[in-house]
Amino acid sequence: MLRMSDAHHWPGRPSPCDGETFSSWFARVAHANFLSPSDLYAAVLPGARLYSVDLDRRSDPDLLNVLSKNTGIPEEQLLTLFLTEFQGRVYERDNPKAPLTWLPHSGGSRNSFGQQACPRCLASSTPFYRKAWRLSFATICPKHGTGLIDRCHKCGYAIAPLQTPSERLFCHCHNCGADLRSAHEPKADRIDQDVQAFLEDVVKRGAAPLGQNGYVHSLSYFWILRKLLRLVVSGEFSLPIQEHVLKETGWTLGSPSIRRLKNVDRLPPTPRRLALRFASHLANDWPDNFISACRAARLTQRRLLRAEEHAPFAFVAVVEAHLCEGPTTVDNRQFDRAVDFLVRHNQQPTHAALSDLLNNRIHAKRHLAAAGRQCAPYGTHRYWKLDGVAPETREAAKRAAKLAGENVGPWVDRIIQKALEQKL
Ligand SMILES: [Zn+2]
Ligand SMILES: [Zn+2]
Repeated sequence: MLRMSDAHHWPGRPSPCDGETFSSWFARVAHANFLSPSDLYAAVLPGARLYSVDLDRRSDPDLLNVLSKNTGIPEEQLLTLFLTEFQGRVYERDNPKAPLTWLPHSGGSRNSFGQQACPRCLASSTPFYRKAWRLSFATICPKHGTGLIDRCHKCGYAIAPLQTPSERLFCHCHNCGADLRSAHEPKADRIDQDVQAFLEDVVKRGAAPLGQNGYVHSLSYFWILRKLLRLVVSGEFSLPIQEHVLKETGWTLGSPSIRRLKNVDRLPPTPRRLALRFASHLANDWPDNFISACRAARLTQRRLLRAEEHAPFAFVAVVEAHLCEGPTTVDNRQFDRAVDFLVRHNQQPTHAALSDLLNNRIHAKRHLAAAGRQCAPYGTHRYWKLDGVAPETREAAKRAAKLAGENVGPWVDRIIQKALEQKL
Protein backbone atom coordinates (compact mmCIF):
# COMPACT_ATOMS: atom_id res chain seq x y z
CA MET A 1 0.00 0.00 0.00
CA LEU A 2 1.26 3.43 -0.91
CA ARG A 3 2.00 5.65 2.08
CA MET A 4 1.39 9.35 1.53
CA SER A 5 3.78 10.33 4.32
CA ASP A 6 6.83 8.87 2.50
CA ALA A 7 9.47 11.52 2.07
CA HIS A 8 10.44 10.03 -1.29
CA HIS A 9 8.58 10.26 -4.54
CA TRP A 10 5.94 7.72 -5.51
CA PRO A 11 7.31 4.80 -7.52
CA GLY A 12 5.13 5.56 -10.58
CA ARG A 13 5.68 9.11 -11.88
CA PRO A 14 4.71 9.37 -15.58
CA SER A 15 5.44 12.77 -17.14
CA PRO A 16 2.51 14.66 -18.67
CA CYS A 17 2.39 14.32 -22.46
CA ASP A 18 2.12 17.29 -24.79
CA GLY A 19 -1.50 18.53 -24.80
CA GLU A 20 -2.66 15.99 -22.20
CA THR A 21 -5.60 16.69 -19.87
CA PHE A 22 -5.10 16.71 -16.12
CA SER A 23 -7.59 13.84 -15.63
CA SER A 24 -5.73 11.67 -18.15
CA TRP A 25 -2.40 12.28 -16.42
CA PHE A 26 -3.99 11.76 -12.98
CA ALA A 27 -5.39 8.38 -14.10
CA ARG A 28 -1.97 7.36 -15.47
CA VAL A 29 -0.28 8.33 -12.17
CA ALA A 30 -2.82 6.23 -10.25
CA HIS A 31 -2.36 3.22 -12.55
CA ALA A 32 1.44 3.53 -12.39
CA ASN A 33 1.13 3.13 -8.61
CA PHE A 34 -1.32 0.21 -8.88
CA LEU A 35 -4.29 2.26 -7.69
CA SER A 36 -7.56 3.22 -9.33
CA PRO A 37 -7.99 7.00 -9.90
CA SER A 38 -10.77 7.16 -7.27
CA ASP A 39 -8.52 5.43 -4.68
CA LEU A 40 -5.68 7.85 -5.39
CA TYR A 41 -8.07 10.81 -5.15
CA ALA A 42 -9.38 9.65 -1.76
CA ALA A 43 -5.80 9.04 -0.55
CA VAL A 44 -4.57 12.49 -1.60
CA LEU A 45 -7.64 14.38 -0.34
CA PRO A 46 -8.87 12.41 2.71
CA GLY A 47 -12.66 12.41 2.90
CA ALA A 48 -13.08 13.49 -0.73
CA ARG A 49 -14.72 11.31 -3.38
CA LEU A 50 -14.21 11.53 -7.12
CA TYR A 51 -17.83 10.73 -8.15
CA SER A 52 -18.82 13.20 -10.87
CA VAL A 53 -16.00 15.75 -10.51
CA ASP A 54 -14.70 17.14 -13.81
CA LEU A 55 -11.03 17.24 -12.80
CA ASP A 56 -9.97 19.18 -15.91
CA ARG A 57 -12.12 22.19 -15.23
CA ARG A 58 -10.25 23.89 -12.42
CA SER A 59 -7.32 23.08 -10.19
CA ASP A 60 -7.50 22.24 -6.50
CA PRO A 61 -4.43 23.75 -4.74
CA ASP A 62 -4.21 20.91 -2.15
CA LEU A 63 -4.42 18.23 -4.84
CA LEU A 64 -1.77 19.94 -6.97
CA ASN A 65 0.52 20.42 -4.00
CA VAL A 66 0.50 16.73 -3.00
CA LEU A 67 0.82 15.52 -6.60
CA SER A 68 3.69 17.87 -7.32
CA LYS A 69 5.58 16.85 -4.16
CA ASN A 70 5.17 13.13 -4.83
CA THR A 71 5.84 13.10 -8.56
CA GLY A 72 8.53 15.78 -8.69
CA ILE A 73 6.64 17.63 -11.44
CA PRO A 74 6.42 21.40 -10.77
CA GLU A 75 2.97 22.82 -9.99
CA GLU A 76 3.40 25.37 -12.80
CA GLN A 77 3.66 22.52 -15.31
CA LEU A 78 0.61 20.77 -13.84
CA LEU A 79 -1.40 24.00 -14.14
CA THR A 80 -0.98 23.86 -17.93
CA LEU A 81 -3.01 20.62 -18.06
CA PHE A 82 -6.32 22.33 -17.23
CA LEU A 83 -9.02 23.67 -19.55
CA THR A 84 -8.37 27.19 -18.26
CA GLU A 85 -6.13 27.45 -21.33
CA PHE A 86 -9.34 28.14 -23.28
CA GLN A 87 -10.61 30.84 -20.91
CA GLY A 88 -10.88 34.20 -22.68
CA ARG A 89 -10.71 32.51 -26.08
CA VAL A 90 -13.48 29.90 -26.19
CA TYR A 91 -15.45 30.76 -23.04
CA GLU A 92 -15.48 34.00 -21.11
CA ARG A 93 -15.12 32.93 -17.49
CA ASP A 94 -15.80 29.82 -15.44
CA ASN A 95 -19.06 30.02 -13.54
CA PRO A 96 -18.99 26.95 -11.25
CA LYS A 97 -22.80 26.75 -11.29
CA ALA A 98 -23.10 26.60 -15.09
CA PRO A 99 -21.71 24.33 -17.79
CA LEU A 100 -18.79 25.68 -19.80
CA THR A 101 -19.56 26.76 -23.35
CA TRP A 102 -18.09 24.33 -25.92
CA LEU A 103 -16.60 22.22 -23.09
CA PRO A 104 -19.31 19.80 -21.91
CA HIS A 105 -18.92 18.01 -18.59
CA SER A 106 -16.84 14.86 -18.41
CA GLY A 107 -16.90 12.24 -15.68
CA GLY A 108 -19.55 10.61 -13.56
CA SER A 109 -22.73 10.11 -15.52
CA ARG A 110 -23.11 7.74 -18.47
CA ASN A 111 -24.32 10.71 -20.50
CA SER A 112 -21.40 13.08 -19.74
CA PHE A 113 -19.94 13.01 -23.23
CA GLY A 114 -17.31 15.71 -22.60
CA GLN A 115 -14.30 13.46 -23.21
CA GLN A 116 -13.78 12.54 -26.84
CA ALA A 117 -10.97 10.40 -28.25
CA CYS A 118 -9.31 9.27 -31.47
CA PRO A 119 -9.16 5.43 -31.53
CA ARG A 120 -5.97 5.54 -33.63
CA CYS A 121 -4.15 7.97 -31.31
CA LEU A 122 -5.14 5.80 -28.33
CA ALA A 123 -3.43 2.88 -30.08
CA SER A 124 -0.02 4.60 -29.78
CA SER A 125 2.64 3.28 -27.36
CA THR A 126 1.77 5.86 -24.65
CA PRO A 127 -1.97 6.45 -24.88
CA PHE A 128 -3.36 9.62 -23.31
CA TYR A 129 -6.42 11.89 -23.63
CA ARG A 130 -5.89 15.34 -25.13
CA LYS A 131 -7.27 18.75 -24.12
CA ALA A 132 -8.21 19.50 -27.74
CA TRP A 133 -10.55 16.48 -27.64
CA ARG A 134 -12.59 18.19 -24.91
CA LEU A 135 -13.79 20.97 -27.25
CA SER A 136 -17.20 20.09 -28.68
CA PHE A 137 -16.42 21.77 -32.02
CA ALA A 138 -13.55 19.30 -32.44
CA THR A 139 -14.89 16.21 -34.19
CA ILE A 140 -11.87 15.13 -36.26
CA CYS A 141 -8.36 14.01 -35.27
CA PRO A 142 -5.98 16.52 -36.91
CA LYS A 143 -3.25 13.86 -37.12
CA HIS A 144 -5.25 11.04 -38.72
CA GLY A 145 -8.09 12.97 -40.38
CA THR A 146 -10.57 10.43 -38.98
CA GLY A 147 -13.55 11.08 -36.72
CA LEU A 148 -13.38 11.30 -32.93
CA ILE A 149 -15.61 9.16 -30.71
CA ASP A 150 -17.35 10.37 -27.55
CA ARG A 151 -18.97 7.13 -26.39
CA CYS A 152 -18.42 3.39 -26.38
CA HIS A 153 -19.25 1.92 -29.80
CA LYS A 154 -20.70 -1.18 -28.12
CA CYS A 155 -22.84 0.07 -25.20
CA GLY A 156 -23.10 3.87 -25.73
CA TYR A 157 -21.65 4.85 -22.31
CA ALA A 158 -19.56 8.02 -22.13
CA ILE A 159 -15.77 7.69 -22.22
CA ALA A 160 -14.43 8.14 -18.67
CA PRO A 161 -10.67 7.59 -18.17
CA LEU A 162 -11.03 8.35 -14.44
CA GLN A 163 -13.24 5.31 -14.02
CA THR A 164 -10.78 2.84 -15.54
CA PRO A 165 -9.35 0.54 -12.85
CA SER A 166 -5.89 -0.21 -14.30
CA GLU A 167 -3.34 0.70 -16.96
CA ARG A 168 -4.36 -2.33 -19.06
CA LEU A 169 -7.96 -1.04 -19.24
CA PHE A 170 -7.10 2.67 -19.73
CA CYS A 171 -8.34 2.58 -23.35
CA HIS A 172 -11.37 0.40 -22.62
CA CYS A 173 -15.01 1.23 -21.89
CA HIS A 174 -15.41 1.28 -18.10
CA ASN A 175 -18.93 -0.15 -18.43
CA CYS A 176 -18.72 -3.08 -20.87
CA GLY A 177 -14.95 -3.45 -21.28
CA ALA A 178 -14.96 -2.91 -25.09
CA ASP A 179 -11.61 -1.76 -26.46
CA LEU A 180 -12.13 1.84 -27.65
CA ARG A 181 -9.16 1.43 -30.02
CA SER A 182 -11.18 -1.06 -32.07
CA ALA A 183 -13.87 1.53 -32.94
CA HIS A 184 -13.76 2.15 -36.69
CA GLU A 185 -13.98 5.80 -37.70
CA PRO A 186 -13.79 6.62 -41.44
CA LYS A 187 -11.80 9.49 -42.93
CA ALA A 188 -13.64 12.81 -42.61
CA ASP A 189 -14.55 14.85 -45.71
CA ARG A 190 -12.06 17.51 -46.78
CA ILE A 191 -14.63 20.27 -46.25
CA ASP A 192 -15.10 19.24 -42.60
CA GLN A 193 -11.35 19.01 -42.02
CA ASP A 194 -11.04 22.58 -43.34
CA VAL A 195 -13.80 23.79 -41.00
CA GLN A 196 -12.02 22.25 -38.04
CA ALA A 197 -8.60 23.59 -39.03
CA PHE A 198 -10.15 27.06 -39.27
CA LEU A 199 -11.68 26.76 -35.77
CA GLU A 200 -8.39 25.52 -34.29
CA ASP A 201 -6.74 28.57 -35.81
CA VAL A 202 -9.36 30.86 -34.23
CA VAL A 203 -8.54 29.37 -30.81
CA LYS A 204 -4.80 29.92 -31.35
CA ARG A 205 -5.11 33.51 -32.61
CA GLY A 206 -7.93 34.59 -30.28
CA ALA A 207 -9.57 36.27 -33.29
CA ALA A 208 -11.48 35.29 -36.42
CA PRO A 209 -12.23 36.93 -39.78
CA LEU A 210 -15.96 37.67 -40.03
CA GLY A 211 -16.85 39.07 -43.47
CA GLN A 212 -17.64 42.76 -43.49
CA ASN A 213 -16.71 43.10 -39.79
CA GLY A 214 -13.04 42.30 -40.43
CA TYR A 215 -11.44 40.46 -37.50
CA VAL A 216 -13.55 39.93 -34.36
CA HIS A 217 -12.56 38.54 -30.95
CA SER A 218 -12.72 34.75 -30.80
CA LEU A 219 -15.35 34.97 -28.02
CA SER A 220 -17.67 36.90 -30.37
CA TYR A 221 -17.01 34.46 -33.19
CA PHE A 222 -17.69 31.39 -31.04
CA TRP A 223 -20.86 33.02 -29.64
CA ILE A 224 -22.16 33.53 -33.20
CA LEU A 225 -21.11 30.05 -34.32
CA ARG A 226 -22.90 28.48 -31.37
CA LYS A 227 -26.06 30.47 -32.09
CA LEU A 228 -25.93 29.32 -35.73
CA LEU A 229 -25.32 25.73 -34.61
CA ARG A 230 -28.38 25.83 -32.36
CA LEU A 231 -30.49 27.18 -35.24
CA VAL A 232 -29.30 24.31 -37.45
CA VAL A 233 -29.85 21.59 -34.83
CA SER A 234 -32.94 22.52 -32.84
CA GLY A 235 -36.21 24.37 -33.06
CA GLU A 236 -38.80 24.92 -35.75
CA PHE A 237 -36.36 26.67 -38.10
CA SER A 238 -33.74 23.92 -38.27
CA LEU A 239 -35.20 21.97 -41.20
CA PRO A 240 -35.98 25.01 -43.42
CA ILE A 241 -32.46 26.34 -42.75
CA GLN A 242 -30.85 22.98 -43.58
CA GLU A 243 -32.91 22.67 -46.77
CA HIS A 244 -31.94 26.20 -47.82
CA VAL A 245 -28.21 25.56 -47.26
CA LEU A 246 -28.38 22.26 -49.17
CA LYS A 247 -30.05 24.03 -52.09
CA GLU A 248 -27.46 26.83 -52.07
CA THR A 249 -24.39 24.63 -51.76
CA GLY A 250 -25.50 21.57 -53.72
CA TRP A 251 -24.05 19.30 -51.02
CA THR A 252 -25.12 15.70 -51.31
CA LEU A 253 -24.90 14.11 -47.92
CA GLY A 254 -24.10 10.46 -47.58
CA SER A 255 -23.73 10.78 -43.81
CA PRO A 256 -26.54 10.33 -41.29
CA SER A 257 -29.12 13.03 -40.65
CA ILE A 258 -28.75 15.56 -37.84
CA ARG A 259 -30.78 14.49 -34.84
CA ARG A 260 -32.82 17.39 -33.43
CA LEU A 261 -31.52 18.13 -29.94
CA LYS A 262 -31.77 21.16 -27.70
CA ASN A 263 -28.30 20.66 -26.27
CA VAL A 264 -25.97 20.60 -29.27
CA ASP A 265 -23.10 19.15 -27.22
CA ARG A 266 -25.11 15.94 -26.76
CA LEU A 267 -24.94 15.18 -30.49
CA PRO A 268 -22.45 12.40 -31.32
CA PRO A 269 -19.38 13.59 -33.29
CA THR A 270 -20.61 12.54 -36.77
CA PRO A 271 -23.91 14.49 -36.85
CA ARG A 272 -22.23 17.29 -34.83
CA ARG A 273 -19.60 17.57 -37.57
CA LEU A 274 -22.34 17.87 -40.18
CA ALA A 275 -24.18 20.50 -38.12
CA LEU A 276 -20.91 22.46 -37.76
CA ARG A 277 -20.49 22.37 -41.53
CA PHE A 278 -23.93 24.01 -41.92
CA ALA A 279 -23.24 26.57 -39.16
CA SER A 280 -19.86 27.39 -40.62
CA HIS A 281 -21.42 27.96 -44.05
CA LEU A 282 -23.87 30.43 -42.46
CA ALA A 283 -20.95 32.29 -40.83
CA ASN A 284 -19.02 32.47 -44.13
CA ASP A 285 -19.39 35.63 -46.26
CA TRP A 286 -20.87 37.23 -43.17
CA PRO A 287 -23.65 38.25 -43.14
CA ASP A 288 -24.91 37.32 -46.64
CA ASN A 289 -25.36 33.54 -46.18
CA PHE A 290 -26.93 34.05 -42.77
CA ILE A 291 -29.41 36.68 -43.97
CA SER A 292 -30.54 34.66 -46.99
CA ALA A 293 -31.06 31.54 -44.81
CA CYS A 294 -33.07 33.52 -42.24
CA ARG A 295 -35.24 35.03 -44.96
CA ALA A 296 -35.83 31.62 -46.53
CA ALA A 297 -36.85 30.22 -43.12
CA ARG A 298 -38.84 33.39 -42.19
CA LEU A 299 -36.69 33.86 -39.15
CA THR A 300 -36.86 37.40 -37.82
CA GLN A 301 -35.29 39.72 -35.27
CA ARG A 302 -37.79 38.95 -32.52
CA ARG A 303 -36.93 35.23 -32.52
CA LEU A 304 -33.22 35.71 -33.05
CA LEU A 305 -32.66 38.18 -30.23
CA ARG A 306 -35.21 36.80 -27.75
CA ALA A 307 -33.52 36.08 -24.38
CA GLU A 308 -30.10 36.92 -25.79
CA GLU A 309 -28.56 39.40 -23.38
CA HIS A 310 -24.94 38.92 -24.36
CA ALA A 311 -25.20 38.86 -28.15
CA PRO A 312 -22.11 40.47 -29.72
CA PHE A 313 -22.42 43.67 -31.74
CA ALA A 314 -21.46 41.89 -35.00
CA PHE A 315 -24.61 39.75 -34.63
CA VAL A 316 -27.07 42.30 -33.24
CA ALA A 317 -26.19 44.94 -35.86
CA VAL A 318 -26.82 42.50 -38.73
CA VAL A 319 -30.11 41.24 -37.30
CA GLU A 320 -31.43 44.74 -36.58
CA ALA A 321 -30.41 46.05 -40.00
CA HIS A 322 -31.65 43.16 -42.15
CA LEU A 323 -34.10 40.96 -40.28
CA CYS A 324 -36.48 43.43 -38.73
CA GLU A 325 -40.16 42.33 -38.82
CA GLY A 326 -42.87 44.24 -40.61
CA PRO A 327 -45.59 45.96 -38.57
CA THR A 328 -46.22 44.05 -35.33
CA THR A 329 -49.99 44.21 -35.89
CA VAL A 330 -51.87 44.18 -39.17
CA ASP A 331 -55.22 46.00 -39.13
CA ASN A 332 -58.24 45.00 -41.23
CA ARG A 333 -57.58 47.67 -43.85
CA GLN A 334 -53.99 46.51 -44.43
CA PHE A 335 -55.13 42.89 -44.54
CA ASP A 336 -57.88 43.60 -47.14
CA ARG A 337 -55.50 45.62 -49.29
CA ALA A 338 -52.95 42.79 -49.22
CA VAL A 339 -55.66 40.29 -50.32
CA ASP A 340 -56.72 42.67 -53.14
CA PHE A 341 -53.12 43.07 -54.27
CA LEU A 342 -52.55 39.31 -54.49
CA VAL A 343 -55.84 38.68 -56.33
CA ARG A 344 -55.05 41.45 -58.84
CA HIS A 345 -51.72 39.72 -59.50
CA ASN A 346 -53.37 36.32 -60.02
CA GLN A 347 -52.06 34.87 -56.77
CA GLN A 348 -54.02 32.94 -54.15
CA PRO A 349 -54.21 35.01 -50.90
CA THR A 350 -52.99 32.06 -48.80
CA HIS A 351 -51.51 32.41 -45.33
CA ALA A 352 -47.98 31.94 -46.70
CA ALA A 353 -48.45 34.51 -49.50
CA LEU A 354 -49.97 37.09 -47.12
CA SER A 355 -47.22 36.52 -44.53
CA ASP A 356 -44.61 37.09 -47.23
CA LEU A 357 -46.23 40.24 -48.51
CA LEU A 358 -46.87 41.78 -45.08
CA ASN A 359 -43.63 40.46 -43.56
CA ASN A 360 -45.73 39.30 -40.62
CA ARG A 361 -47.01 35.84 -39.70
CA ILE A 362 -50.63 37.12 -39.22
CA HIS A 363 -51.70 34.62 -36.56
CA ALA A 364 -54.96 36.34 -35.56
CA LYS A 365 -56.35 36.59 -39.11
CA ARG A 366 -55.07 33.23 -40.26
CA HIS A 367 -58.63 31.89 -40.71
CA LEU A 368 -59.41 34.66 -43.22
CA ALA A 369 -56.67 33.56 -45.62
CA ALA A 370 -57.46 31.22 -48.52
CA ALA A 371 -56.76 27.54 -47.94
CA GLY A 372 -53.25 26.62 -49.01
CA ARG A 373 -51.98 23.35 -50.43
CA GLN A 374 -54.00 20.34 -49.32
CA CYS A 375 -52.29 17.57 -47.38
CA ALA A 376 -51.06 14.69 -49.48
CA PRO A 377 -53.48 11.71 -49.62
CA TYR A 378 -52.93 8.88 -47.15
CA GLY A 379 -50.03 6.66 -48.14
CA THR A 380 -48.36 9.19 -50.45
CA HIS A 381 -46.97 11.45 -47.72
CA ARG A 382 -43.27 11.47 -46.92
CA TYR A 383 -44.01 9.68 -43.64
CA TRP A 384 -46.03 6.49 -43.59
CA LYS A 385 -47.12 3.99 -41.01
CA LEU A 386 -45.83 0.44 -40.99
CA ASP A 387 -48.24 -1.89 -39.23
CA GLY A 388 -47.28 -5.35 -38.07
CA VAL A 389 -43.85 -4.44 -36.65
CA ALA A 390 -43.23 -6.20 -33.32
CA PRO A 391 -42.85 -3.92 -30.27
CA GLU A 392 -39.43 -5.49 -29.54
CA THR A 393 -38.26 -4.56 -33.05
CA ARG A 394 -39.44 -0.97 -32.55
CA GLU A 395 -37.60 -0.79 -29.22
CA ALA A 396 -34.42 -2.27 -30.73
CA ALA A 397 -34.61 0.20 -33.65
CA LYS A 398 -35.03 3.11 -31.21
CA ARG A 399 -32.00 1.98 -29.19
CA ALA A 400 -29.83 1.52 -32.31
CA ALA A 401 -30.85 4.95 -33.69
CA LYS A 402 -30.02 6.55 -30.33
CA LEU A 403 -26.60 4.88 -30.27
CA ALA A 404 -25.97 6.22 -33.79
CA GLY A 405 -27.16 9.67 -32.65
CA GLU A 406 -29.97 9.84 -35.22
CA ASN A 407 -33.74 10.24 -35.11
CA VAL A 408 -35.46 6.90 -35.49
CA GLY A 409 -37.28 7.81 -38.78
CA PRO A 410 -34.18 8.69 -40.86
CA TRP A 411 -32.29 5.78 -39.27
CA VAL A 412 -34.95 3.22 -40.30
CA ASP A 413 -35.08 4.80 -43.76
CA ARG A 414 -31.30 4.45 -44.18
CA ILE A 415 -31.25 0.83 -43.01
CA ILE A 416 -34.12 -0.14 -45.35
CA GLN A 417 -32.41 1.60 -48.29
CA LYS A 418 -29.17 -0.24 -47.53
CA ALA A 419 -30.95 -3.60 -47.33
CA LEU A 420 -32.76 -2.92 -50.61
CA GLU A 421 -29.52 -1.97 -52.36
CA GLN A 422 -27.97 -5.26 -51.31
CA LYS A 423 -31.03 -7.17 -52.58
CA LEU A 424 -31.16 -5.50 -55.99
ZN1 LIG B 1 -5.64 10.42 -34.12
ZN1 LIG C 1 -19.14 -0.02 -23.47
